[in-house]
Amino acid sequence: MVANANIPTLKLNNGTSIPQLGFGVFRVDPAETTHIVTDALEVGYRHLDTAAIYGNETGVGEAIAASGIAREELFVTTKLWNDRQTDAQAAFDESLGKLGLDYVDLYLIHWPTPEKDTFVEAWKELEKIAATGRAKAIGVSNFLVPHLEKLLAETDVVPAVNQIELHPAHQQPAVTAFSREHGIQIEAWGPLGQGKYPLFDAPEVAAPAEAHGKTPAQVVIRWHLQSGNIVFPKSNRRERMAENFDVFDFELTAAEMATITAMEREGRVSSHPNEVN
Ligand code: NAD
Repeated sequence: MVANANIPTLKLNNGTSIPQLGFGVFRVDPAETTHIVTDALEVGYRHLDTAAIYGNETGVGEAIAASGIAREELFVTTKLWNDRQTDAQAAFDESLGKLGLDYVDLYLIHWPTPEKDTFVEAWKELEKIAATGRAKAIGVSNFLVPHLEKLLAETDVVPAVNQIELHPAHQQPAVTAFSREHGIQIEAWGPLGQGKYPLFDAPEVAAPAEAHGKTPAQVVIRWHLQSGNIVFPKSNRRERMAENFDVFDFELTAAEMATITAMEREGRVSSHPNEVN
């Protein structure tokens, strides 16, 4: 177990801080979620990323309640699913109820679903939720530059984060630069490429792993952290949770960072944001 690691935080544009490393629960079986999140909290994670569509908010909430960890020491994110963009207040209430919490730290629109053209309407509801304090910060996920431009033009609150697919083969430089220019922090989902391409065998990753006496996964997580990304790699296995958390005792050199960054090849491993509706 890696206890009490000093997890760096980043400042969000609402003034709150977010732990830069967290634990994501996409595809964590609802029946297993309580014990898996309990393991993650015991390993030391204090930032949890779930979503209504994952079906496991109840398990996340049970693990939090059982942990005895003070609420203010935790950072909890959940997300509004696509079919609730015209019904955001009720959807948010349901998520909060399942989590058993009084507030979440971050509430996101999960996908822009541009064909539906309802994300501006949804965002205005998220602004109201944030005004009540029941979501400390609000943000978006999978938003490309045109979606962000529309949101910024038609609403008042600038998203605190944009959570996007981001790993060495797919870094989305345009959306990342645009987000950062507007004070929107980047959260990298699929930070390990979801295991869908041989990232860990690539010499750009394997060589620094060897040099630093760390694993390839730790090198990739370190690359994210040093790039300024917020990450929450997922694993059901406690030893991997601990491995992914044990990334604060080494630093990649500028040359190692640049070599990994040069792996960009528009290698998306999951859905294109314009195709999810
Ligand atoms: P990930 O890149 O974190 O990959 C997870 C997979 O990598 C695991 O299933 C495991 O097989 C493997 N892995 C993890 N640690 C490893 C290690 N140390 N060594 C070897 N293999 C290891 O992908 P993800 O789970 O899709 O992304 C992380 C989180 O991002 C999710 O859990 C979720 O919270 C979030 N997410 C958000 C969206 C969105 O649309 N907003 C989409 C997908 C994921």
